Amino acid sequence: MPNWLNNFMYGRYGFDNLSRFMMILWFAIAFINLFFKSYILYAVTLIPAFLILFRMLSRNIIKRRAENARYQAIANKTGAWFSFRRQKLREIKTHRYRKCPHCSAVLRLPRKTGVHTALCPRCKNRFEVKIVL
Ligand SMILES: [Zn+2]
Repeated sequence: MPNWLNNFMYGRYGFDNLSRFMMILWFAIAFINLFFKSYILYAVTLIPAFLILFRMLSRNIIKRRAENARYQAIANKTGAWFSFRRQKLREIKTHRYRKCPHCSAVLRLPRKTGVHTALCPRCKNRFEVKIVL
């Protein structure tokens, strides 16, 4: 980084994961707008662009960090949701996932068709599990 830019950015927040997400959003909207060519959508693309610039140059680092932490919590939750779906799909031939009716823990069971009794390792309750295919 050149020295003048280093001096300019000193004490300012800079780039983070939330900014990266907004940049992806910005490019996605801009890409969609290649087909629509609407002025309203063009104006919408300016919103994330402006926000990224504002957050990068902001001196209120505590507030920007809190925003990023809130974004990160949501992003982690959605990431875990998708990762569980991917895992279920990967193991579709060998395992089935069922929720315990008492404590709602998710159990990973071997794929054996028929009606079985499962023992929940968390609450030690037994419940019937029907695996169709
Ligand atoms: Zn349970």
